Amino acid sequence: MGAYYCAICNQTTFCGKKKHIFGKNHQSRLRVVLLKFTEKVKEARRTLKKPQVEKFDCTQHKQKFWCYCCGLEVERNVTDDNMTVMYGGLLEHMATREHRNGTYKFWWDNKADPKLRDRVLITEEETERFKAEVAKVLECFVEKEDEYIKQQADVIRAQEKHRQEVFQCLLEVCFPKMQWPWLVFFYVRRKIPLFSS
Ligand SMILES: [Zn+2]
Ligand SMILES: [Zn+2]
Repeated sequence: MGAYYCAICNQTTFCGKKKHIFGKNHQSRLRVVLLKFTEKVKEARRTLKKPQVEKFDCTQHKQKFWCYCCGLEVERNVTDDNMTVMYGGLLEHMATREHRNGTYKFWWDNKADPKLRDRVLITEEETERFKAEVAKVLECFVEKEDEYIKQQADVIRAQEKHRQEVFQCLLEVCFPKMQWPWLVFFYVRRKIPLFSS
């Protein structure tokens, strides 16, 4: 009997693979792993009908998750560094053929409860619907963003106009006789504000 490394238990056993897999330790550890794993997928699945799109946040949106079925790290979200579709990466991964094959193999190899298997699989129809919903949400998001930028531009324009009016007014009141070119020269060369507000 050769050595067998078990990724679930994170240990090497020498009693043989089959004996280890059916053993109490492995099975109880597997239950804990699957509970956490299926909970995570359940959380993601909740956004299938109502995708969560957020403004990109580099401290929050770069998380990865470990797919036990495929034995690899997968991006949890999908982002273009501007907007983030929460759980987009996870849902997309769970719908791939590779993940489906990996899941069947994982369940078989670990003698896991077949009733739980479908919980970590997303159907193609589900992802198609998800993508359609994401498109709708993104459209709405972009509209809102455009509106916000427009509002900000209006505010800046109004502030600029106000500043110019104040400046003009001060010129007329304080320096009615002073010549414009002088003022500009003075202002530009000294780089000091003429009037502090
Ligand atoms: Zn094990
Ligand atoms: Zn996977």
